[in-house]
Amino acid sequence: CGIIGYVGDQSALDVALNGLRRLEYRGYDSSGVAVVGAGALRTARRAGKLANLEKLLSEGSEADPMPGTTGMGHTRWATHGGPTDANAHPHTDCTGAIAVIHNGIIENFAALRAELEAIGHELASETDTEVVAHLLEVELGNAAAAQAAAVPEDVTPRPTRPGTGPAPGPGVPADRTAEPGAHPLTVALQRVCRRLEGAFTLVVLHRDFPEVVVGARRNSPLVVGLGTGEAFLASDVSAFIAHTREAMEIGQDQVVEARRDGVTVTDFAGEVVEGRRYHVDWDA
Ligand code: GLU
Repeated sequence: CGIIGYVGDQSALDVALNGLRRLEYRGYDSSGVAVVGAGALRTARRAGKLANLEKLLSEGSEADPMPGTTGMGHTRWATHGGPTDANAHPHTDCTGAIAVIHNGIIENFAALRAELEAIGHELASETDTEVVAHLLEVELGNAAAAQAAAVPEDVTPRPTRPGTGPAPGPGVPADRTAEPGAHPLTVALQRVCRRLEGAFTLVVLHRDFPEVVVGARRNSPLVVGLGTGEAFLASDVSAFIAHTREAMEIGQDQVVEARRDGVTVTDFAGEVVEGRRYHVDWDA
């Protein structure tokens, strides 16, 4: 029932928990958070009050249970699957690299779930939401395979004398921020959204892409908060009003890629669109 996403320099866990506290008034039955940092995606979720989630987070021995400055938080109002820990968001894909939070209802989730199970995906919850994480996994897998197939094998420079060439090992990763709007996670979410029916505010994170948090919406609200060197995605401006009053409206059937240096808004076909900026001048 509430969503907050963040990318910037602050502790994403703190921003997410503070945002969720501001959204508590909307009512919820479970809550959860996810943070990307130090090469890992960490999630925590619990049925019941936010205090249950906070207790879970404080049980570990680490001072900072979720290091990282890219993250998100969710409060759930169950529609598909009871209010249990396993059904609480975030939901992840089979590899644990992708996390998804969602408000709304994916009407065609049963058909999508059957399709995913037929190709070997094991779903861990009873929610309509979890299919989105697995569909993103499929899209990113397809994109990676297509990219590998498009690169001729003989372009790798070879050492002319032993020991003088580039060190063997994985290639230098492509600069994924060079083309805002064409980020692989954004493209994958655009493609997945085209297949979804119903109402959704979605925010997604990927372990290997700490530079972005990506959101999408249809028939459900999503607003952007624009800070200096940071950006917020939320179901409601009250989630980020303590940080910034510069906001941007996200239109129907649009995807927003948030980075430290700004945001790029596209439609589900990947076409860049102009977001409407406004100043929040009421007291939240
Ligand atoms: N339909 C999703 C679920 O039941 C999301 C509910 C919500 O809007 O919080 O998990």
